[in-house]
Amino acid sequence: MRASASSTSSRSKPNYARRRAVSLILVHVLFGIHIAHWKLHGTTLAPLELNELMYTLELGILTAGFLFMLTAVLATMFFGRFFCSWGCHILALQDLCSWLLGKIGVKPKPVRARFLLWVPLLAVIHMFVWPQISRLREGQPLPSLHWNTDVQGWASFLTDDFWRNLPPVWVALMTFAVVGFGVVYFLGSRSFCTYGCPYGTLFGWADRLAPGRIRVQDNCKQCGECTAACTSHIQVHKEFAEFGTVVNPACLKDLDCIAACPNDAAYYGFGNPSLASAMGPSKRFRVPFDYSWPEEILMAVVMLATVFIFRGLYNVGPFLMTLGLGAIFAFVTITTLRLFTKPNVRFSKWVLRKGGHLQRAGLVFALLSALTFAFSTHSAVIRYHEYKGWAAVAELENASDEMVSRVAAINAWQHLETADRYGLLHPIELQTGLLRLAAMLGKPADVRHYATIVSAHLWDQAPQLAELGGYRAAAGDVAGGVRDLRRALELEPNAEPIRVELERVLAVQQQQQALH
Ligand code: SF4
Ligand code: SF4
Repeated sequence: MRASASSTSSRSKPNYARRRAVSLILVHVLFGIHIAHWKLHGTTLAPLELNELMYTLELGILTAGFLFMLTAVLATMFFGRFFCSWGCHILALQDLCSWLLGKIGVKPKPVRARFLLWVPLLAVIHMFVWPQISRLREGQPLPSLHWNTDVQGWASFLTDDFWRNLPPVWVALMTFAVVGFGVVYFLGSRSFCTYGCPYGTLFGWADRLAPGRIRVQDNCKQCGECTAACTSHIQVHKEFAEFGTVVNPACLKDLDCIAACPNDAAYYGFGNPSLASAMGPSKRFRVPFDYSWPEEILMAVVMLATVFIFRGLYNVGPFLMTLGLGAIFAFVTITTLRLFTKPNVRFSKWVLRKGGHLQRAGLVFALLSALTFAFSTHSAVIRYHEYKGWAAVAELENASDEMVSRVAAINAWQHLETADRYGLLHPIELQTGLLRLAAMLGKPADVRHYATIVSAHLWDQAPQLAELGGYRAAAGDVAGGVRDLRRALELEPNAEPIRVELERVLAVQQQQQALH
């Protein structure tokens, strides 16, 4: 421990919470300026998104986002895990949610489950490691790192496709709602950082090597104020007593413990990294877990099932959102089960069951849980048909035999049409696939139906419009076919195949008009 510095105790402490709020607001302002620049100029700096790491690993292209991630990790290896609490927009949402809930008197109880601790590591393997293993198993070489321009398909630095790896805006907002608010409400403050974020795992590893840490002087009174202030749920005073520093890699260096210490004993400083202070997680201090082993196993099953069902459902379902949903559904499942097996059950400030009697809040919780289950079951059925349908489409594309390809087309049509008929959303990719299948199977009414829907989405894509025009004309909607082909030719005036097809369809139209 460092010797007590009496001069520090007399100094007033900076308001770290306010400084952090300013920093996080600035992150959002910069994000807004970046989007505005793209909208106004058409070309802008490639997105500084951490998920660009995935694409660098997959394509070998060194992007601005990858270099940003690399810089953040290297900085963490020296200064500690500051990025998460001073620069991450998901953390900003989580802390905002905790703050808003605090304003209405709700303090979410942190959930402690063994299996949840493994989720971020599994996410890292799924996102970054497994694709490389798959590539090697298929005999493909690892990509070589290189710079790229937009003309080559994916820019390193300047791009006119800023949104290239981001989901549609409404999906992004839903993701923020789930991982920024839902997870916090059900599982406690910063629970997505601890139980879901794969990038957090990488930063946590880097943090273990960092000499810059939260440390304590020898005037610590072990009062526990630092632990009470820590929204990452670290047993700060116990780690101080054991190691003289916070060794838990979940420490996000928000400096709240320093601000809360009445004796000015906690400080940020340099010394031994946590790896040298405490070997392995077993030495960290944790309060006991909340669930029995059977409950943990059931939660893990629910979480996995949720990820399988919702990942890619309706051609959306981003991975991080499904992780958040999985954690919430796992918690809801066990709490519902306990409603019927335990005499006393609470959730947040609600008493759900007391002395073996279900309370009104418990009934509402059970009903909402049943609705969630019904929604998940419906989604599972749709996901099943999507999966089988697209698998049949892949079979169709690889079929060399006409009979095999017709069977695959019928199979694909049945599954995808069911997904479209009963699904809550109707993605354009699904409807385009159904259009092609309808044309292949000779279903003119269905071709006309899907062509009408799809054409509005393809209004600026010449090859797809030309294909659509051909299908329409063949299905009897010659005027619609002419319209699509003319538009395709407007977009690509030099495309000879489109011109030839337009002339052919125009000739058919003239013949029909002559007959009438
Ligand atoms: S708040 Fe300060 S004095 Fe109290 S336990 Fe934490 S470091 Fe020690
Ligand atoms: S230990 Fe201190 S700096 Fe680290 S997360 Fe907790 S309050 Fe913040």
